[in-house]
Amino acid sequence: GKWVYSFGAGRNEGKAEMRNLLGGKGANLAEMASIGLPVPPGFTITTEVCTWFYDHGKKYPEDLRAQVDEALARVEETVGNRFGDAKRPLLVSVRSGARVSMPGMMDTVLNLGLNDQTVEGLEAASGDSRFAWDSYRRFIQMYGSVVLGIDHHRFEEIIEDAKLAANATEDTALTARDWRGVVDGYKAMVQEVRGEPFPQDPQDQLWGAIGAVFGSWMNPRANTYRRLHDIPADWGTAVNVQAMVFGNMGEDCATGVCFTRDPSTGEDIFYGEYLINAQGEDVVAGIRTPQPMSEARAKPDERSMEKAMPAAYAELVKVRETLERHYRDMQDIEFTVQQNKLYMLQTRNGKRTAAASLKIAVDMAAEGLIDRKEAVNRVAPSSLDQLLHPMLDPEAPRKLFSKGLPASPGAACGVVVFSADEAEARANKGEAVILVRIETSPEDIHGMHAARGILTTRGGMTSHAAVVARGMGRPCVAGAGGVTVDYNGQTLSSGGQTVRAGETITLDGASGEVFVGAVPMIEPKLSGDFATLMEWADQSRRLRVRANAETPLDAETARKFGAEGIGLCRTEHMFFDPDRIGAVRQMIMSETERGRREALARLLPFQRKDFLDLFRIMAGLPITIRLLDPPLHEFLPHREEDLAEVAEALGADPAAMKRRAADLAEANPMLGHRGCRLGISYPEIYEMQARAIFEAAIETAKSTGKAPVPEIMIPLVATKRELEITRAQVERMAKAVFAEAGMEVEYQVGTMIELPRAALCADAIAEPADFFSFGTNDLTQTVFGLSRDDAGKFLPLYVEQGILPKDPFVSIDIDGVGALVRIAKEKGRGVKPELKLGICGEHGGDPASIQFCEEAGLDYVSCSPYRVPVARLAAAQAAL
Ligand code: PEP
Ligand code: MG
Repeated sequence: GKWVYSFGAGRNEGKAEMRNLLGGKGANLAEMASIGLPVPPGFTITTEVCTWFYDHGKKYPEDLRAQVDEALARVEETVGNRFGDAKRPLLVSVRSGARVSMPGMMDTVLNLGLNDQTVEGLEAASGDSRFAWDSYRRFIQMYGSVVLGIDHHRFEEIIEDAKLAANATEDTALTARDWRGVVDGYKAMVQEVRGEPFPQDPQDQLWGAIGAVFGSWMNPRANTYRRLHDIPADWGTAVNVQAMVFGNMGEDCATGVCFTRDPSTGEDIFYGEYLINAQGEDVVAGIRTPQPMSEARAKPDERSMEKAMPAAYAELVKVRETLERHYRDMQDIEFTVQQNKLYMLQTRNGKRTAAASLKIAVDMAAEGLIDRKEAVNRVAPSSLDQLLHPMLDPEAPRKLFSKGLPASPGAACGVVVFSADEAEARANKGEAVILVRIETSPEDIHGMHAARGILTTRGGMTSHAAVVARGMGRPCVAGAGGVTVDYNGQTLSSGGQTVRAGETITLDGASGEVFVGAVPMIEPKLSGDFATLMEWADQSRRLRVRANAETPLDAETARKFGAEGIGLCRTEHMFFDPDRIGAVRQMIMSETERGRREALARLLPFQRKDFLDLFRIMAGLPITIRLLDPPLHEFLPHREEDLAEVAEALGADPAAMKRRAADLAEANPMLGHRGCRLGISYPEIYEMQARAIFEAAIETAKSTGKAPVPEIMIPLVATKRELEITRAQVERMAKAVFAEAGMEVEYQVGTMIELPRAALCADAIAEPADFFSFGTNDLTQTVFGLSRDDAGKFLPLYVEQGILPKDPFVSIDIDGVGALVRIAKEKGRGVKPELKLGICGEHGGDPASIQFCEEAGLDYVSCSPYRVPVARLAAAQAAL
């Protein structure tokens, strides 16, 4: 087979489309080389080799070696240096590169090919002894930790000793001789730790590094990252071997990491950081402070690349245009300038915040780089969550603690924790935590995920913390240099203030500010680019989007987010209000119908007012009102002493109250006396609710001149007869109210499909139904025989072990629950082609489930108000 693909070395065997085979980095290096950008020559060992490696006890295909030799020879020829040559040594970098980028997950080795002989060749060729010996020690250090697994502290110690001996505080003060001494110290230490010398043969070095990259694919942090991002282990990583170029050969050299647009805001400005006389890792390591690319973004004490290296900068600006036009997306690039000559080391579609993603999509559509449909497809629906999150109330009082870089927007508030493990442990208990670290590394991913926000004291806008937090949508303040973190003492302090672990702080990831205590937050603005993109999305979608809402506040939020009606008003939520729970309980306590009717009469005006509010807020839009669903026991207090108190308040006998509560208790309430079963045994309940709906509808019609069309929905129906009986109750009540009012309004009666039997017998049930709404929460529960309330105990394990691909209460189980939805649709529409179909379980706000609803041909989805924009966008993408 073909295992190795060359780029920039006389031929380009890869291209961007080959990312599955070559990994993202390798595919894009080949693509850049083939569109004429300056890329140092190299080659990519394919992801198939990685798979082969793991399938064959960590061995390589037989013909791999010959292919690597051949590709390496081609690089030697292009560069004019030879691998291992004492006079003119070729040095290479060895880097991982998976199909999708996994920032910081995999290992890299630079300056490979250096040994006791070639270091002198490098010294002679560059005319710079310090550079040569510094490069050699960097190589031993990287190779030592990545390939040989030696703790990096062992290397740091030797450098610290050298600095002490030289009376230096900075690495930069060390001379060639000092670095030579460090190299000797490193080699002795490697010999001591490993029991054998540091490998001197460049071929051994190369294969050691290749093995380490493949080996790193299965390391714990890569595994964690894959699990969090749903990346299959069998994708594998590629290995890229590339001729080294040096950004650390003097003042006319530099290296940088930048974005073709601002990844936080999306602004069309060349954005990023570079360092003069530095090697790639220095920029992200946070040891020296990187400088800005563009003069427009430079502060007085900073030196922009635009000013410091005008020629190389101008070339880079051209590259930026070429790349954006070629890839039609914002790029994240790495470059090196060696003696004023620019080299491109990487390009990929840049990670960005939701706000940036939105702005870039809308701007690029305006610039004609992409069309509107493409723009709609560019924004991940779930990322909108970030934009819809609250920000700090500008009016609220606050106590500034410190300030860092605005690394990832959004505000977050929580208690301080200092380790990723603790962040995870406390978040699992439901606490909001802020993870505070000097800097983060890939080992901290799980804690960053669990935290509401992240604060670091070191590192720039492209530091690990910043990149990962933006990707996850976590607010982050990075590089807050004024803050001192004391892990041992479990404190962070700044300007005389001290915050202890467990105390609350607030971060503003948009300004970089950190506050002591909790600062109140406000809702986000939904205009501008957001409104534009949403409008484009709305033009593309077929599915309607409604909200699950019952309070005026929820209904108003839903409207603001663009809901086109209410798909589920759970009336029981209206019963818990302190004003009415007394009447509800009185009704439950009554042993007679007369008693119940009296209590229900007290509830009627409240219910009528509820519906009046909803009809007003949702004027002109459909509203599905579900009649009472949960078992009555849910409305009684759960503790015995509270029961006595309630009895007293109701003037009831505490003993009788206890008896009644015991009567109502069920072993399995979710499968018990609930839904239409209640409506059938206590018809007066549904009658009161129907009366409230019709009276409110008539009142609305009279006062506004426009009658709402309520859709009355019966829950937990399993048989046609149940729906016939409850429908008849509703119709009788309609007649009565219409007669009293002397006018009529239109209405519909439908049912939830949330039991398997209802789905299977949907043809019969459709006859008395005007609409179906799939209650996929209960349907999932009953299809799996899996309690919604107890699944948390083992479901995560099921997902972790791959027994289930996803939590079926979050994303619809297409094979099982989905099959029933399709059956119900076929059967229902078979007898009633105009039957309206919707979904109102939690799945109505989940992009993958919405895709299913589109394919299944439903009419609308209904979800919680905050997810409405997510659903609108997901519905558009499903239709495109
Ligand atoms: C459902 O079961 O999917 C549903 C929407 O109803 P509830 O969650 O109130 O049971
Ligand atoms: Mg239900």
